[in-house]
Amino acid sequence: MSADIAKLEKILRMEAANNYKDQLVFRGLAAFVGNWVRESLKTSLDPAEARLIEQVSEQLIDYGQLTVLERAKAIQAVLDTTAEIGRGQKPASAAPPTPLTAARPRPEISANRPPASPARRLPPRVVDETGPTSPIEPLTVSLSQAVPGQKVAASNPNTTLHNPNTKTKTKTVTAADLQAPLTTVKGVGETYAKLLGFINLRTVHDALYYFPFRHEDFSSFKKINELMYNQTESVIAKVVDTKGIRTGGGKEIIEVIVEDATGRLSCFFFNRRLTYALKAGETMVFSGRVDMWSNNRICFKSPTFERADQELLNTGRLVPVYSTAGPLKVATLRKMIKTCVDTYAPVLPEHLPEPIRQRVELTSLSQAIHNYHLPANQAIKEVARRRLAFDEFFMVQLGVLLKRQQWREERPGVPIEIDRELLQAWFDALEFKVTRLDPETNEMISELHKLELTGAQLKAIDDILADLGKSKPMSRLLQGDVGSGKTVVGATGLLMAVANGFQGALMAPTQILAEQHFQGLRRLFDSFEASEAAQARGLKIRLELLTGNIKKKDALYQRIRNGEVDIVVGTSAVIQEVVAFNRLGLVIIDEQHRFGVIQRATLRGKGAASAANAERANPHLLVMTATPIPRTLNLTIYGDLDLSIMNEMPPGRLAIKTRWVKQSERQGAYNFIRKQISLGRQAFVICPLVEESEKIEAKAAIEEHLRLQTEVFPDLKVGLLHGRMKPVEKDLIMHQFRDRQYDILVATSVIEVGIDIPNASVILIEGADRFGLSQLHQFRGRVGRGQSQSYCLLMASEELSQDGRERLRAIETTSDGFVLAEIDLKMRGPGEFFGTRQSGVPDLRAAGVNDVELLETARHEASQLFAHDPDLRQPEHSLLHQKVSQLWSFEGDLS
Ligand code: ADP
Ligand code: MG
Repeated sequence: MSADIAKLEKILRMEAANNYKDQLVFRGLAAFVGNWVRESLKTSLDPAEARLIEQVSEQLIDYGQLTVLERAKAIQAVLDTTAEIGRGQKPASAAPPTPLTAARPRPEISANRPPASPARRLPPRVVDETGPTSPIEPLTVSLSQAVPGQKVAASNPNTTLHNPNTKTKTKTVTAADLQAPLTTVKGVGETYAKLLGFINLRTVHDALYYFPFRHEDFSSFKKINELMYNQTESVIAKVVDTKGIRTGGGKEIIEVIVEDATGRLSCFFFNRRLTYALKAGETMVFSGRVDMWSNNRICFKSPTFERADQELLNTGRLVPVYSTAGPLKVATLRKMIKTCVDTYAPVLPEHLPEPIRQRVELTSLSQAIHNYHLPANQAIKEVARRRLAFDEFFMVQLGVLLKRQQWREERPGVPIEIDRELLQAWFDALEFKVTRLDPETNEMISELHKLELTGAQLKAIDDILADLGKSKPMSRLLQGDVGSGKTVVGATGLLMAVANGFQGALMAPTQILAEQHFQGLRRLFDSFEASEAAQARGLKIRLELLTGNIKKKDALYQRIRNGEVDIVVGTSAVIQEVVAFNRLGLVIIDEQHRFGVIQRATLRGKGAASAANAERANPHLLVMTATPIPRTLNLTIYGDLDLSIMNEMPPGRLAIKTRWVKQSERQGAYNFIRKQISLGRQAFVICPLVEESEKIEAKAAIEEHLRLQTEVFPDLKVGLLHGRMKPVEKDLIMHQFRDRQYDILVATSVIEVGIDIPNASVILIEGADRFGLSQLHQFRGRVGRGQSQSYCLLMASEELSQDGRERLRAIETTSDGFVLAEIDLKMRGPGEFFGTRQSGVPDLRAAGVNDVELLETARHEASQLFAHDPDLRQPEHSLLHQKVSQLWSFEGDLS
């Protein structure tokens, strides 16, 4: 015999024995069937076998999507046929002779299990097959057209993927319909569409990409007499009776009694309305956790149920759970999305090039979308997720590569030569300031010490100087934990630019930070200018501060344009707006971990475009951040940048002692703060709220400030800083705090970024349990910047979530920001980790933290593709090109 019928029979019998759960084959029975059919077609077949193959391919091809009843029937029908072939007969009675070209309708077959009620047929699917086939894709064949290995349908978006063999009453769906509003979907009216708008679902495409956040596993079917307490199960049972029971408290409970061949079961409901659909005599599927009621009897409480004679959606399978909002019910949403998935997923054009799909072993987009919503089992869901996760990474990588290339090729960079002698003189002149309390005078004194660069700093400087020497503009990210000394590293680059006659710019996210940098750099340059090497070269660095506060801006702009200023330090807003440089060689962006790739590119682009001379080369770019970004995300968000990591702290730093303080210990915490202040130190009290508006946050801070000033520390000077203040006000407060006009500063989350107040030795964080670890770590980094011991006190509510507890334990015991970021990301997922402010980068929805390997693959594939077709101009990449442009909302055309 040519077709391996025995193998087919064996697997079908096993599947029947396993209650039609579709869990035997890794990618689902349909996948097995697809392969089996393909294999069989390669051999020569007698007519009976040919008919069997057609029957198999037709009836079992969407096995995963059949109801249990339909599965049972389909398998039985096929087994009937194989039995007849075995007996040497033509398979006529079980499967009525269908013309070879007709894929539908299904033959009627008598099933011997489970409870028979007339099976309602699946609505004919308009489209059976989409895109190039992948190895796991089941294939509906009809022998007249099936050639082994032949591809069915095309991936051209404009091709109507309409199976000519399907007799359909529904209108033909095309890829163009994906952009149609949801009102075009059956059952969605204007009002419902409005509700869907609340969760940003507007088009069919939106719905297809609205992924469930988890699946409820109702896939295990049991007979009533097999049910075990506390297991989540599904049963197929007939409704026998419904009665109302009054409880002692006068509440009504509805008991619905159902039965199958093995026994009876009570289902309890607490709302009569819910039971209206349960009519005596109807066969239903019930899913839920098996519970217990009086006399140790097993029952279901408020189970989910639906009719057994239709395709199961809410019971008896992996049920997708979607997040909803307002009056939008999850079951309704589920149904709507299912309709979309069934109708439109098949016409989703495949944008991934076939060779990539084959190499990476990715399922088709249509399959992936279908199976990520409505998987037959966990394995299938994972296959689908993997494909979609790859897509996300791949798109991000391509976008990043395109941006980087644009940047690099628009204009070449200018090589900056490194004067080694000068560099040594600079290193020799480096100093850092230590402030401490003089025990005799009780005054704070500052001392300058020789600064020895750490190994990590030297390595980073090496990386940067090597980049600067090239004619391609540098694109580098310098990542180093809070206090690791990034400023000196950046300053070294700036100095080299200036020594070569170029200008440099250093941008900070806030005015106060810009000012801090300005003063810090001035100090460093002053001592350097006194060195012999600098004197010999007549090197004097003209450093200017450019913030919103600066008066006579026009004159300053003029001098920058004329090249009379060497280095401009300012906020990025100011620099983006107006400034034209004369010979801009290096741009440094500090603490911009929340800046997306797009903003960076724009910034770079602006720098060049605003240059007086339009043919000028692009400046080198260095981005500095203290936010340690886990590897998965690092490669995505900073994929356009080369990376230098500083994983070493300057010597003599003491780890910040961090303690989780209970509410009952609050007074003790205040006493501790008081003690630190009496030692000449200062304190931060952070009382931020998560996810609230700045207004509410400000209010909380104002109240806390009042309470602390009047009730707790009436004798001390307590300052207040919040996001509703004007920038000038904020700056004023920060200056006053730095000048020790306040002992304590009460602040909201505006304090997060980069402020350097070495004299502050203690930070108390209210509501600490509500923050992500990375953010807590950033807050904590506001202290411990000097040489003395610093402390972080974490105040949390008494009723802590498990999550909150774990986070506080983690931050208490770990001072490594990188480790914390990894934990944070695992606990919260990438979306939350970056918050909404991480704009400009496509969402990672299917991809997770553990997909590092897949990310690497995507990165590799993207650069391969890119090397070969840098502008994505080749016709087979046009769809990809379109998709990347959309996702990244590139202005205009990419090429
Ligand atoms: P960050 O990486 O957070 O931007 P900074 O550049 O602000 O860190 O440096 C923090 C403090 O450490 C500054 O006061 C700086 O002078 C000091 N510092 C930097 N490098 C060293 C070093 N190698 N040895 C000692 N102190 C250093
Ligand atoms: Mg810094």
